[in-house]
Amino acid sequence: MLDLTFTEPKPKTISGATGDWELVIGMEIHAQVASNAKLFSGASTKFGAEPNSNVSFVDAAMPGMLPVINEFCVEQAVRTGLGLNAEIHLYSAFDRKNYFYPDLPQGYQISQLYHPIVGEGEVHVDMEPGVARTIRVERIHLEQDAGKSVHDMDPNMSFVDLNRTGVALMEIVSRPDIRGPEEAAAYVAKIRQIVQYLGTSDGNMQNGNLRADVNVSVCRPGDYEKFRETGDFGHLGTRCELKNMNSMRFIQAAIMAEAKRQIAILEDGGEIQQNTIAWNPDTGEISPLRSKEEAHDYRYFPCPDLLPLEIEQSWVDEIKSNLPELPDAKKARFMADFGMTEYDASVLTAEVASANYFEETAKGRDGKTAANWVINELFGRLKKDECDITDSPVSPAQLGGIIDLIASDAISGKIAKDLFEIVYTEGGDPNEIVESRGMKQVTDTGAIEAAVDEIIAANPDQVAKAQANPKLAGWFVGQVMKATGGKANPKAVNELVAKKLGG
Ligand code: ADP
Ligand code: MG
Repeated sequence: MLDLTFTEPKPKTISGATGDWELVIGMEIHAQVASNAKLFSGASTKFGAEPNSNVSFVDAAMPGMLPVINEFCVEQAVRTGLGLNAEIHLYSAFDRKNYFYPDLPQGYQISQLYHPIVGEGEVHVDMEPGVARTIRVERIHLEQDAGKSVHDMDPNMSFVDLNRTGVALMEIVSRPDIRGPEEAAAYVAKIRQIVQYLGTSDGNMQNGNLRADVNVSVCRPGDYEKFRETGDFGHLGTRCELKNMNSMRFIQAAIMAEAKRQIAILEDGGEIQQNTIAWNPDTGEISPLRSKEEAHDYRYFPCPDLLPLEIEQSWVDEIKSNLPELPDAKKARFMADFGMTEYDASVLTAEVASANYFEETAKGRDGKTAANWVINELFGRLKKDECDITDSPVSPAQLGGIIDLIASDAISGKIAKDLFEIVYTEGGDPNEIVESRGMKQVTDTGAIEAAVDEIIAANPDQVAKAQANPKLAGWFVGQVMKATGGKANPKAVNELVAKKLGG
């Protein structure tokens, strides 16, 4: 397992006119469950479908329609809980959260307030090698998503698309343990990485399948430690909430803007109102939206249409025994098995697709060489084309083939790079390409010797100079490489040139 001896990163400090301030952040991440059907109906969850085409009578809240729980979604919530080392509640229940909104036909959202399916867990958020913070997860509950109101298609009318209505969400609620904007982004990235490894959510932030409500407050140095000792929220500042953030960059910028807004108010002798905050990504401006005091009373009560959810420990155990290897464990294994640095292991395990690609390439080969080729050559080339690893034009078998050719001394490292580019752009079997294009390294000393002799014979002046100054032997090596089209084994050339000049 991963060696968890790390140092905690320092909290982000902002200097104000009246002294230093520290940030305290807690997040509610909504991750859409990767299910084909909705949480309480059989309607499809397919993204990008014709508006209002994935809507069942249940989703449209037709009178008399009853919700039926989707077992697959429950399983994904349990898997996610297990992936976050969290307590799984064998008893959970659904509640109605009542509010009126045009994209919510039921007039309430079915959620889990009093008895969530997942309790306390934790995640390790890596900031840099050897530096990480443990962020506690308070709970995960299952709930329905709302629909979408469209206000920008017509000057006089608004439209409602109910395709998303009733889609299953896992709301992952953290403790206020996040201490800065970079850490907040790293936390979202880690949660996203874990759900992607688990396959419980695709984590696609652009499509809104993973989005975060970010709660921000500021306090004086030392106050947070008092909160951790006592559990008393009174030591923390009043928080404000940035809703539905779906970009790592925006999350960081918005947190800083909001913290500065709060500090300015506090230093001016004012008080923070617990507001929802709107952040404009175009201008970077921040403005309070509505006060929580004015917000609706949700009149939560147990949903009478659904029985409490009771699951068996044996089912949880079975799910647990089928969990895939998770990012921290995979990273530790890569470091141990392939002798790679924590940095390289982090890069290779960032996405499960990259990790799988690497493992397939490294199978039966030198792991360090494979890691080198995947990280430096392949990732570098893919980045240039903005191409995802899943669309890589070079397969692990092809890259492995190139590595084998280097290992067997059939080609030099330099030729290997040319070969890689050919395979990347034209495809094909590396072995065949090397054969058909005569790229094989010349290791036959007879042939190299002939080339060395020829160049020595043609350049008596250079020979005299090189004999006086052995450093100039490099010129002959260069000439031989040129004469052989870069295919001569550099080691053999070096040895022969030294021998011939010396003798
Ligand atoms: P609500 O029911 O209003 O959503 P919760 O108590 O569930 O409130 O908290 C929501 C989120 O706000 C949690 O992630 C929690 O950790 C975070 N939070 C609570 N207090 C603070 C605070 N003072 N500063 C920053 N985040 C906070
Ligand atoms: Mg909330």
